Amino acid sequence: MSTRGHSGRLLEERAPKELSDTSHTCARCGFCKIVCPTHPFGGGFETFSPRAKIHFLKDYYEGRAQITPEWVDRFYRCTTCERCQTVCQTAIPLVHLWENIRSEIVTRGFGPMPAHKKMGDLAGEFGNPYGEPAGEQPRWMLPEHSPVDKADILIFGGCTASYRMPSMLRAGATILTRLGIPYAYAGGHEQCCSSPLLRTGQLEVARILIARNLDLFASTRARQIITPCGGCSKTLKYDYPIWAKRFGKSFNVEVLHFSEMYLRLIQQGKLKPVKAVEKTVTFHDPCHVGRSQGLFDEPRKILAAIPGIRLLEMPNCRKESRCCGAGGGVKANYPQMAAAIARDRVKEAVATGADTLVTMCPFCQGSFALAVKELDADMELSGLETLLLASVV
Ligand code: SF4
Ligand code: SF4
Repeated sequence: MSTRGHSGRLLEERAPKELSDTSHTCARCGFCKIVCPTHPFGGGFETFSPRAKIHFLKDYYEGRAQITPEWVDRFYRCTTCERCQTVCQTAIPLVHLWENIRSEIVTRGFGPMPAHKKMGDLAGEFGNPYGEPAGEQPRWMLPEHSPVDKADILIFGGCTASYRMPSMLRAGATILTRLGIPYAYAGGHEQCCSSPLLRTGQLEVARILIARNLDLFASTRARQIITPCGGCSKTLKYDYPIWAKRFGKSFNVEVLHFSEMYLRLIQQGKLKPVKAVEKTVTFHDPCHVGRSQGLFDEPRKILAAIPGIRLLEMPNCRKESRCCGAGGGVKANYPQMAAAIARDRVKEAVATGADTLVTMCPFCQGSFALAVKELDADMELSGLETLLLASVV
């Protein structure tokens, strides 16, 4: 089960009264503060805690507080990792509140933060937050990959996998190719899924890109969209149906993270991991795949199906997994904090005694690659699909 608790309503459609009502239920227990990965980077001050932010929002929505640059900075120091929401004893939809106040900050001209604005401007101009030319999007493909124009399955590469960390995307396409399963791919036409824009409150650019993607998806007539990215899969699964309804566009497709597809193929007997991969691994649950989508068992079942793999869990795993530090625009605007959070997670992985840290999100993998280098850690990094590919004939 996802811990996200989506309401099925667009964030900006929630009335201030309704938002303030949810903050009234805060019991001030501070559980959210204990688990928040960014709170320790606020010098230990309570004002950087989720609990303090909730109380600011209560005052703000009831007209007793104003948005100031200090509060803007505090609200953007959040990876949207959902740990606070998971432990909140009164089930406040905290991440909804964080995303909502960010969109209000942008609407009222107090934000976003400079790096987010740059990301939004590039996404508006190029269709991706890296500012890469669209023609570069399919460059991850190998000669053996042969997408067809129309198929039931559409691969959505996503910006980070397509332009920066392609190994998971590449391995996933290779697995489908080897199994003879046809897939479509719209490389060069895909727009950013808009996860980074929605999480940083930049809804105006997001709505343009989402509308284009919805038209693109409709033109392929795919019945399933599959993606290797945690942020893309979460956004396509939970945000797109809401936006499609608002636009009056159709979105009758099933969205799957790659791990869901692999497990189905294994369970159907179509994908048979047979070659031993002798590795002792530990697994990092990406926040937007684990807590957001509830996909905790899928990767572990896949690892268990690969002969030779031995899994050593980190103390903080599954619902309690720690964040890689990159999400919610934190890596873009607060790179030092993001890097420190990633290093802490890599240290936890090293302490298990595993030789390989496995994840299933290119964004997490990018953060850990940097952290491993900075720590000079004796730790290999691997995408889940790379291990799986090594095991299939
Ligand atoms: S979503 Fe994560 S980073 Fe943001 S306030 Fe909650 S625990 Fe902290
Ligand atoms: S965990 Fe929930 S109830 Fe407890 S302080 Fe945080 S927001 Fe309030």
